[in-house]
Amino acid sequence: MNINDMIEKIKTYKGKPIKIMEVCGTHTMNIAKSGIKHILPKNITIVSGPGCPVCVTEDLFMQYAFQLAQMKNTIIATFGDLLKIPYNNKSLSDLRGLEADVRLVYSTLDCLELAEKNRDKRIIFLSVGFETTTPLSALLIKKAYEKGLDNLFILVGNKVIPPTIELLLEDSNVAIDAFIYPGNVCVITGEEPFRKISYDYNIKGVICGFSDQEIIESIYTLISGNDLFYNCYSKAVTSDGNCYARRLSQEVFDICDTNWRGMGTIKNSGLTLKENYLKHDATRLIDTSSLPEIATNRLCRCGEILKGILNPNECPCFGKICSPLNPLGPCMVSSEGSCAASYLQVLKGELL
Ligand code: SF4
Repeated sequence: MNINDMIEKIKTYKGKPIKIMEVCGTHTMNIAKSGIKHILPKNITIVSGPGCPVCVTEDLFMQYAFQLAQMKNTIIATFGDLLKIPYNNKSLSDLRGLEADVRLVYSTLDCLELAEKNRDKRIIFLSVGFETTTPLSALLIKKAYEKGLDNLFILVGNKVIPPTIELLLEDSNVAIDAFIYPGNVCVITGEEPFRKISYDYNIKGVICGFSDQEIIESIYTLISGNDLFYNCYSKAVTSDGNCYARRLSQEVFDICDTNWRGMGTIKNSGLTLKENYLKHDATRLIDTSSLPEIATNRLCRCGEILKGILNPNECPCFGKICSPLNPLGPCMVSSEGSCAASYLQVLKGELL
């Protein structure tokens, strides 16, 4: 079937209401940019779940990042969006150049060069991400270990997606009828973990690519197909995924329980350095016994938004005291956040 026929079938869908959750920041933004929500009839809803790694990063990680940034002889290396996350009314960007040496990196391996050129300083990489980017953090630590770069550390905030989808499915407040699974994560994991979720929980799911056409095809597949599981991104996602990348992650990290913003501790959903690599663990540099209480912004409703319980424009702060220029929470900061995506729709006049 061609794409126009699929769009027509979606527009004229007369079946029972279906609430679809996507769990990938790139899907969140592409859906907002493409205007796909405009073609959906009232009985098809798409919400964003916990698919943006910056958005799900908890306040404790940010508290640690601030502590580390303010240590003497320290360079913090990070990707762009983490720089802007507000914590206790400040961001790492605010500290930059004044109280802290915070550098933007474009690849984890940039940290190796920083560590080699600044042997008298500690280089600390703030690592967040899901299965897709974790192998790159693993590679950084493996190389630092092999090169004997004892001044290179990592603050690990990496997470894994499948246990979180399972938690959502077990939460009676979260009523989801189908999932658009994250194609980029599946490139690494392969189909299996997501196929298992669909069959274990009797929930429809589709592995989806990132173009407008691929997203439309996935929505069409969910409303018209009779199977529980589909892979609509088979050009990139195989049954087994990328074994090399997974082996790299497994060589450096162990699975552990971890906190997700607004979702609490989720079993087996986080990563921690293996014993071999613990000398690169940045938390060893912090006296965790003397930290002040975590500063949580009670106005921000990111937790409910990440669970698909609340739409961004239902947050009382949305567009009033919280906007991309003055973000109160990570979902508005991140270029893949649900609140930022909804704000983009407001600017385009699609959402009021
Ligand atoms: Fe948080 Fe702002 Fe989103 Fe509200 S609109 S949930 S305050 S990021």
